[in-house]
Amino acid sequence: MTTMMTLVKTPQEIENMRKSGQILAMVFAHLRKKLKIGISAKELSDIANQEIRALGGEASFLGYQGFPGALCVSLNDEVVHGIPSSQKFIKEGDIVSLDLGVTYQGMITDSAFSMIAGKSSNPRLEQLLLFTEQSLSAGIDTIKDGVAVGDISAAIEGVLSKNKYGIVRDLVGHGVGHQVHEEPNIPNYGHKGGGLHLRAGMTIAIEPMATLGGDDVYVSNDGWTVLTSDQSLSAHFEHTILITPDGAEILTII
Ligand code: MG
Ligand code: MG
Repeated sequence: MTTMMTLVKTPQEIENMRKSGQILAMVFAHLRKKLKIGISAKELSDIANQEIRALGGEASFLGYQGFPGALCVSLNDEVVHGIPSSQKFIKEGDIVSLDLGVTYQGMITDSAFSMIAGKSSNPRLEQLLLFTEQSLSAGIDTIKDGVAVGDISAAIEGVLSKNKYGIVRDLVGHGVGHQVHEEPNIPNYGHKGGGLHLRAGMTIAIEPMATLGGDDVYVSNDGWTVLTSDQSLSAHFEHTILITPDGAEILTII
């Protein structure tokens, strides 16, 4: 983590972030097709890296603080930062959470989604994914010039707590653009009106992480993978957002 406050980006920087976000979204569309039962996390990460490079970008996470891969692949009770190991294979019914950063002309976007591999045997998983994504949308819907960080946080918390999900509190959304993580933090819980007020031209990553159990997580012995303490299943959705004078522009969609 750095302490750099996220800056109002220049028009050229915003244009480069749009391009970065488009590359990211295209790679995600490709990964959804490639995500089959039996494929390894490393294969997915290698595909992501190749596709990013073919589209003129770079994988922001590769080597970031020593991270060994382009793509975070987190399964089931793994919340985020799963290492894309060649020994980690996708199984039927797994919740697969993919998290990716793309750098284009020095500008970074960050996005994540969860999906169920193959057929799900548990309708509660579908609901968890649905409402975690809905909480991200609720957070985005609050955004406009001058929005308080707490407005975003409270909207996300509202959707997740109403559905009785655990909310991961040790990890948060963040400013993004020149670096993978810029200030301020964007927690997935909070009070309306609280915290800093954000300005048009700032770019932030919003990323609710919800669980079917409690809020607590821990980092595994590999030094990266964050897991739920009670082994409950988890979901993660993230977009990079440009704050505009009257709303938000989602940069990580096609
Ligand atoms: Mg991310
Ligand atoms: Mg992020």
